[in-house]
Amino acid sequence: MKTDVIVLGAGIIGVSAALHLQKKGRKVVLVDRRGIGEETSSGNAGMLVRAGIRPYHFPKDPVLLARSITKQFGGFNYHPQFLLTHFPWLISYAWHSRAQSIEQISADMLPLIETCVTEHQALALEAGAQKLLHAAGWLTVYRSEKSFRRAVAAAQGMAKKYNLDFDVIERQQLAARFPIKVDKLQGGLYWRDPYSCSNPESLVKAYGALFERNGGVFIRADARNVTGQANQWRLSTPSTSIEAKEIVVALGAWSKEIYEPLGYRFPMVDKRGYHMHYKSSWPDSFHTPVTDMDHGYVLAPMEQGLRMTTGVELAARDAPYTPVQLKRLETIAKDIVDLGQRADSTAWMGTRPCFADMRPIVGAAQNHAGLWFCFGHNHVGFSVGPGCGKLLAEMMTGDTLFMNPLPFSPNRFS
Ligand SMILES: Cc1cc2nc3c(=O)[nH]c(=O)nc-3n(C[C@H](O)[C@H](O)[C@H](O)COP(=O)(O)OP(=O)(O)OC[C@H]3O[C@@H](n4cnc5c(N)ncnc54)[C@H](O)[C@@H]3O)c2cc1C
Repeated sequence: MKTDVIVLGAGIIGVSAALHLQKKGRKVVLVDRRGIGEETSSGNAGMLVRAGIRPYHFPKDPVLLARSITKQFGGFNYHPQFLLTHFPWLISYAWHSRAQSIEQISADMLPLIETCVTEHQALALEAGAQKLLHAAGWLTVYRSEKSFRRAVAAAQGMAKKYNLDFDVIERQQLAARFPIKVDKLQGGLYWRDPYSCSNPESLVKAYGALFERNGGVFIRADARNVTGQANQWRLSTPSTSIEAKEIVVALGAWSKEIYEPLGYRFPMVDKRGYHMHYKSSWPDSFHTPVTDMDHGYVLAPMEQGLRMTTGVELAARDAPYTPVQLKRLETIAKDIVDLGQRADSTAWMGTRPCFADMRPIVGAAQNHAGLWFCFGHNHVGFSVGPGCGKLLAEMMTGDTLFMNPLPFSPNRFS
């Protein structure tokens, strides 16, 4: 089989890239070893983080750092082996987390983040999946007066700078506006711009179905069976062989299995996260995700129940599964909602592929013509997937670019 482009990976990033390439007239074969949207893109908190301009950075507050190291911060866990193996990465992450650097990263990411609602809306409309997106905003709540007042001050600066809309909600009003318990809370911020998705996996599958309806081909195959060189790429499967001039690596945390054998070295690590659904009394019609900022987890209303997603676990992608954060957070979250019984027999685990400079890689490989990279989307891949797919398709087809892709260049690490 001959095609124009092979896209490896059918998470939100690969599916979005495939759709946008198809819109530009390219014949595309999309490849995944699983079904469409069944890895990290399925189990996230479903937030389209229009207000999440500042990246998730290394903790600067010494108290938070101490709580994290001693595992007292509910949202965070680590495997000691990770710290030993990735110590230079952690130093680099801390370096890029300086105030001035965070300002630059936020500015670089802004045009992409700004697309998160509009680009998802456009694809969801075409895919007939609008019912999965909700203009429900995002609520962040604070347990200490100090963290609440600090957040209010920071939000005022952010809102002005990035044209965001938010309400400061004192404790008394919180209970009136949201289905939460407020005894342990001091207040909250309600961000109006973000949207939520009530079933991320179904949304990605709907985008995949749109791609197939429009003539795209999806096949299940192992991406590691790719061979090739300058503008001659081949994917062999037990039943067929596909040839293309161009190939896109959009394998999320598994991208290194393709780029490393081709001689590329990128400082990408795995930040794992877990989720569990609960049979809570959360009202079905209420789609606003809630982040408990002092403990670093999210309560995200989903079709499957109330989904609690954990913060970060620093551990190798394939290291043993250790969902200890969920147990800790269940006790903490009960201050805010009646979680009810667990609805799943085991916790889901996913992996956020992250660079220390908190930007993804989007662009052409330095040493192989026709090889394109699009991975490392950190904590915001579900949000920026459609915008990023559009940017990559513009780059590959030589179209006018809607934003400057230089901060995402793979060459920044050479
Ligand atoms: C707990 C948690 C909560 C999150 N919440 C949010 C949120 O609210 N909002 C947000 O924007 N982001 C969120 N994220 C981040 C977001 O989910 C990711 O950034 C995004 O899903 C990454 O998409 P992807 O397509 O790059 O990767 P993936 O979805 O992981 O896709 C990679 C694909 O590659 C395939 N693959 C791997 N190896 C092979 C192989 N050898 N052959 C063929 N196929 C292969 C996999 O099967 C998979 O389908 C969260 C992440 C976690 C873990």
